[in-house]
Amino acid sequence: MNEGSSAAPRSASMPAERMRVFFALWPDAATAAALHARGRTLRAECGGRLMRRETVHMTLAFLGDVPASWLAVLEEVAGALHAERFVLELDRVGGWHGHRVLWAGCETVPAALQALAAELGARLHAAGFELEARAFNPHVTLVRNALRSPRQAETPLLRWPVASFVLVASERSADGAHYRVLERWSLGEGGAAPVRSRGPN
Ligand code: ATP
Ligand code: MG
Repeated sequence: MNEGSSAAPRSASMPAERMRVFFALWPDAATAAALHARGRTLRAECGGRLMRRETVHMTLAFLGDVPASWLAVLEEVAGALHAERFVLELDRVGGWHGHRVLWAGCETVPAALQALAAELGARLHAAGFELEARAFNPHVTLVRNALRSPRQAETPLLRWPVASFVLVASERSADGAHYRVLERWSLGEGGAAPVRSRGPN
């Protein structure tokens, strides 16, 4: 998105507030607890820093730093999206970047998840947002800075019923990133349009 053409005019002495934001799937309490437990198992095997239970998520589209005035456009894009509910079957764990990141993922990406990410990406692109060109690689980060990768890629099946997606602000502080859910949209059954629900829950 071209900041110069669409951001509200502002004086040079008052720089626009910026926010680091991304769209994500946010687990319900039971799924978050199950993912966190899987993270504990991974950490026991591989070492590293366990992600906090309340931060566990799956990124759908990462926007990075944007002027806060653009949030309304992001919310409009998300609200216009047509996507269905699905169950995400997490049945794999793995490591990336020399095990800096240990994650849970799926052997087969559900078509509905692929479609959700693709439609979101296409709509964001059409609205002028610049997204990374790299392919969508769905994963849930559970451990950071591990000492080794897990021996077994396959793990017991963890079923995550996905009924909504969220827009999240990533806020930096001395102890790392904290996430704040800004808005949530319910996914439809049988292709119904998403319904925006006020507030993070
Ligand atoms: P930190 O970067 O402080 O260690 P973090 O990676 O958890 O913390 P962010 O960098 O704000 O926090 O990232 C938020 C989410 O977006 C995370 O799921 C992260 O993996 C993902 N993400 C970050 N950068 C990108 C990117 N360039 N492309 C795709 N996803 C990204
Ligand atoms: Mg990061």
